[in-house]
Amino acid sequence: MQKTKYIFVIGGVLSGVGKGVTTASIGRIFKNRGFKVSAIKIDPYINVDAGTMNPVEHGEVFVTEDGDETDQDLGNYERFLETDIYSYNYMTTGRVYLSVIEKERGMQYKGKCVEVVPHIPMEVIHRIKNAAAKTKAEIMVIEIGGTAGEYQNILFLEAARMMKLENPGDVAFVLVSYLPVPGHLGEMKTKPTQYASRTLNASGIQADFIVARGPAALDKPRREKLAVLCGLRNEDDVIAAPDVKSIYEIPQVLEKQKFAESIMKRLNIKSRKVVEKNWDKFVNKIDKITTSVKIAVIGKYFATGDYTLADSYISVINAIKHAAWHNGVNAEMTWIDSEEYEKHPEKIKELGNYDAVIVPGGFGTRGIEGIISTIKYAREHNLPYLGLCYGMQLATIEFSRNVLGYKDAHTVECNPKSKNLIININLTQAENIKNNRYGGTMRLGAYDCVLKQGSISRNLYGAEKISERHRHRYEFDNKYRDEMEQKGMIVTGVNPQSNLVEIIEIKNHPYFVGVQFHPEFKSRFLEPHPLFVGLVKAALKNK
Ligand code: GLN
Repeated sequence: MQKTKYIFVIGGVLSGVGKGVTTASIGRIFKNRGFKVSAIKIDPYINVDAGTMNPVEHGEVFVTEDGDETDQDLGNYERFLETDIYSYNYMTTGRVYLSVIEKERGMQYKGKCVEVVPHIPMEVIHRIKNAAAKTKAEIMVIEIGGTAGEYQNILFLEAARMMKLENPGDVAFVLVSYLPVPGHLGEMKTKPTQYASRTLNASGIQADFIVARGPAALDKPRREKLAVLCGLRNEDDVIAAPDVKSIYEIPQVLEKQKFAESIMKRLNIKSRKVVEKNWDKFVNKIDKITTSVKIAVIGKYFATGDYTLADSYISVINAIKHAAWHNGVNAEMTWIDSEEYEKHPEKIKELGNYDAVIVPGGFGTRGIEGIISTIKYAREHNLPYLGLCYGMQLATIEFSRNVLGYKDAHTVECNPKSKNLIININLTQAENIKNNRYGGTMRLGAYDCVLKQGSISRNLYGAEKISERHRHRYEFDNKYRDEMEQKGMIVTGVNPQSNLVEIIEIKNHPYFVGVQFHPEFKSRFLEPHPLFVGLVKAALKNK
């Protein structure tokens, strides 16, 4: 067992260059060597968690087993490290301040004047060490949100600096920077990265390594230049990370440049060879795939363009890809704005061009009539359908309206006045809303579910009892269950403690499954989620 070594990952130049994936990939190359690895995300915002933020602003809210609403990067950590990441591996400025203030109110600082420095960085360090102890990590990779030079993450950088000062041999800094190739020059420029490195120096941090992201790989002269001008020990400490086809290739990119060896040397870690090779093998395998399956994803959150969209559904996208690859095909995903089908109902026929349809989670009224029309189409045309959370709720509403004949069937979220609230609210949730308690109060995290013998889900999971992660406020009303089942929508998954409906399926349909939970959070690169695998299988049959 190696004592915990800490690798801080800090961004330079601009955001969104793949710090999260780099963090996860650094973890992966150590995991491949048999080290126990964990990862922490530090987010600079004041929000205590990501749960109350609009997905258009924040991207996906990733839910942990223990019900924390976190940043999407934790999803990457779970997918790359093949391990569950818990609440204690995540912090925000809001969370750190909240606990310092609570400690102060509880006299835990013993009458001292509590100050921003050192008490805030000390709390950050305390949290990092606590996570290391809880996870028993030999390698802890810590991603600091934001970019060097920002005002917001300065106290986190200070925490990192203090940790290095305390244990110089146990802490390394990785600057993930971007090297642009301006169109009019056609040449890769190192200057922004030089500035980023200087800016880090101003916070008392000297990068040990630079991961140079960019549209192309770094050449030798630029590698040398960066090493010298950014104060690195040698040019091998600059790692080129050009754009690749799939993020899952990044560990290979790092491996080829002996990044793990360099880190082990720097941190005095007894060197270990790669022992886990399945990741690598699977990356090579998917590289050869040439056929694809066409999947339509229907939802909203399209208002600010494709980029935000992809971010809002990042785990769904990954789950689809994993399942497709394991079926030997690529996933060709098309994003359809459900409002399009409200404005142009005749367009719904286009769905016939796809092999399967997914409706991911969502909130609120906008676009839902278009989603309901989509579900009707999938149900009536034997088009494989997977509904995730809202996608399950809206499937029960569609069925109630068009099969049971409850024309006003609805969810209380959108139309509290409806006489047939198929999706309703329980007492605790009603109290939460009445008292404006929105933060962290949904039904969150892992809950058990018992599957019905002979159902699609039961066959796919190959188990009777499963556990899946939740994030929703409203529930199916059991009052409608019998009638629905008589007409062909079967409840195939139920929570054994609360009797809440977790899964519905349509009888005599090739694949129509709606789940109240979010299976996408548990899909892994090497271990795809059974429900997504089932959907892709059905899609391939439907081709
Ligand atoms: N809006 C629904 C609810 O709160 C569904 C949530 C979701 O899809 N995550 O119950």
